[in-house]
Formats: sequence, C-alpha cells, structure tokens
Amino acid sequence: MDMTDCIFCKIVKGEIPSYKVYEDDETLAFLDISPNNPGHTLVIPKEHFENIYSLPGELFARMSLTAQKVSIALKNGLSTDGVTLSMNNEPAGGQLVFHSHIHVIPRMKDDFTVHYPHKTYGEGEAEEILEKIKAEI
Ligand code: 5GP
Ligand code: ZN
Repeated sequence: MDMTDCIFCKIVKGEIPSYKVYEDDETLAFLDISPNNPGHTLVIPKEHFENIYSLPGELFARMSLTAQKVSIALKNGLSTDGVTLSMNNEPAGGQLVFHSHIHVIPRMKDDFTVHYPHKTYGEGEAEEILEKIKAEI
C-alpha cells in the first residue's frame, strides 16, 4: 500500500484528527476510534513501517516504552483492573491498518472474554516446531 494513503500517517501529519494521549520524537499514542473499552489506545511509530517484521528493533523498543507509559496512565487514570497489550501483523494476524501499532486495552473485571484456542502438541511435534523456529533466530 502507498504510504500517502495510510490513515495513521495522516494522523501523524494532522491531516486526520485524533485524540492524542502522548507523543515524543518517534512515537505517538492516540485513542482508537472504535474502542474495545473506553481508553483503548494505539501506539504507533511516527515513521511508516508496515508491521513487526520491517520495524527497526530500536523503534519497536521505543513503541514498547510508550505502551508501558500508556498502560500505567490507564491503570492510574481510569482505575482499570487490568491492561491487555496486543499487536496484529498481516491479515491472518488480524491486521486491518498496515502501519504497525500496539493496542493498549484497558480491562475491567469480567468485561469480555477473548476466545483463543488452546491446542495440544502431538508426539514429537513440539521438538519439530522448536527446531524450525530456532533455525531462524
Ligand atoms: P488492527 O486490526 O489493524 O490491529 O487495528 C486497527 C485499529 O485501528 C482498529 O482497532 C480501528 O478501530 C482503529 N482505527 C481505524 N481507523 C482509525 C482512525 O481513523 N482513527 C483512529 N483513532 N483509529 C482508527
Ligand atoms: Zn503509515
């Protein structure tokens, strides 16, 4: 996708309005327009990188620091019971906006359940999977 069409780049440039929670030289945090809970915040790099694979590691670290700041502000400011962080990458990973972002979602006791499956490994499967991952690290 052409970055000039990127909705989050437009938010960085102020071409689309947003409720800004925090910004520094490299990152921006703003309220998600369609929140899972009030206060749901997105943390993005100001520079356009599509996903976690292409993000420079140092920039991902900066996003993580901002996500932590936001988490603490949600905890203290909104008296949340918990905070869930997530990052969707590629369509199969649930990514809809292709400018990398971390979701910081305030949680309240018994607010909603996320239904991820919990599978089991077959005989020898964990070892096989482990070898494939470790070969790339
Ligand atoms: P993804 O599925 O890509 O991880 O999530 C994209 C998120 O961006 C969604 O939660 C969606 O509500 C949010 N979003 C999409 N367009 C806009 C927008 O124009 N402004 C804001 N503040 N959030 C947006
Ligand atoms: Zn962008």
